[in-house]
Amino acid sequence: MYDPRSMKAEEFISHEEIMETLAFAQAHRRDENLIQQIIERAKERKGLNHREAMVLLDCELEEKNQQIYALAEQIKKDFYGNRIVMFAPLYLSNYCINGCVYCPYHLKNKHIARKKLTQEEIRREVIALQDMGHKRLALETGEDPVNNPIEYVLESIKTIYGIQHKNGAIRRVNVNIAATTVENYRKLKEAGIGTYILFQETYHKRSYEKLHPTGPKHDYAYHTEAMDRAMEGGIDDVGIGVLFGLELYRYEFAGLLMHAEHLEAVHGVGPHTISVPRIRPADDIDADAFDNGINDDTFAKLVACIRIAVPYTGMILSTRESQKCRERVLRLGISQISGGSRTSVGGYAKPESPRENSAQFDVSDTRTLDEVVNWLMRLGYIPSFCTACYREGRTGDRFMSLCKSGQIQNCCHPNALLTLKEYLMDYASEDTRRIGEKLIAEEIEKVPREKTREVARRNLAAIEQGKRDFRF
Ligand code: SF4
Ligand code: SF4
Repeated sequence: MYDPRSMKAEEFISHEEIMETLAFAQAHRRDENLIQQIIERAKERKGLNHREAMVLLDCELEEKNQQIYALAEQIKKDFYGNRIVMFAPLYLSNYCINGCVYCPYHLKNKHIARKKLTQEEIRREVIALQDMGHKRLALETGEDPVNNPIEYVLESIKTIYGIQHKNGAIRRVNVNIAATTVENYRKLKEAGIGTYILFQETYHKRSYEKLHPTGPKHDYAYHTEAMDRAMEGGIDDVGIGVLFGLELYRYEFAGLLMHAEHLEAVHGVGPHTISVPRIRPADDIDADAFDNGINDDTFAKLVACIRIAVPYTGMILSTRESQKCRERVLRLGISQISGGSRTSVGGYAKPESPRENSAQFDVSDTRTLDEVVNWLMRLGYIPSFCTACYREGRTGDRFMSLCKSGQIQNCCHPNALLTLKEYLMDYASEDTRRIGEKLIAEEIEKVPREKTREVARRNLAAIEQGKRDFRF
């Protein structure tokens, strides 16, 4: 029985409800009236439930699909303007005791280079990341209570926040570690993490159990209920996602939205972000061996429909995707991307030789951060290094109510300009700086509130004088 308020995984992600939803959407995929009604509802910008959103995802009417894409673009513009928040992953350790069949870190892989960074190595990685211009990291580790206990993660977070190197600083550390206990989530909260990220991989229980044959991750309920424990532990910004390609994308789409509905129903706040990774080749993983891969058109439709269904939820895209694909889906809903990423352990300070490869997946977009920033600006976007909300205590429902009142725009836009200015002053190539200065001069005029505009202008001037870290 589907019950978004239930605390049991199999009730808030109900297989029967998903199957009924899929059948309903299939039956209505050419139902012009119903599709139009749902589009009209979506225009209210309050989101859609999983069933409505699934009808849009399955829609086969060309003209309606054009309306769906146009609406996704408009919602993206209204909620996120032309800003794209930048981040980088930081791999601390690839020791792992799980058996995930799609990830080269699985326990049985005996030939991949196993690495775990010492605190000194973390310092070197973080300095390399700071020297690129990054301010926001996503920490990644495999699950291994002996090699990567929670104490190691906490110590690493402390190290990262403590590094002051030139004008660099990591101002927000998001954490992507295995499902854990309320007590450990509380410790992460106390360590000052931003978002806790955990991908479901697949919401389909039977497939989940097959794809995770061994190790603690095999437990579907423990994994699926992790966000509830995280919230109980005081973390109110959580990031969900699936690995597209493992199961039918339509099933995963319904699961993702049901998970969001559950978090909203129980905790009063939905997920802070949704990530949309697609399976990629890696060490002993052949992406083609998974039958459920989705093409770029389907991927674009997915992004557009998620954007419409949960307008307030940020959407994250990694360097798994190529430049071309990224360009397409940025317009449709993505609000945060990584740039200049290394998916190996210790790969920022010292690029690896192919022989000692410790990477979790092959990167498609291999450009430097400066190239990505330059490219974004040429496309008309403002790359933002903003981390203000969590540092100002705007998390969870406080963040969501600010979003829903529309006032968050008065923070995001000037903050994007101030943090871009820091990037231009400290890290950018000459060409990137030239484009960026012109962009800032144009965009500052668009800050709606006069007082905010004035303060932002003053702060931009102060950054030129060497001051840093202003925020609204
Ligand atoms: S996906 Fe995570 S848990 Fe699974 S093998 Fe890879 S690192 Fe380990
Ligand atoms: S002001 Fe808040 S919501 Fe806006 S970009 Fe910065 S951290 Fe994100």
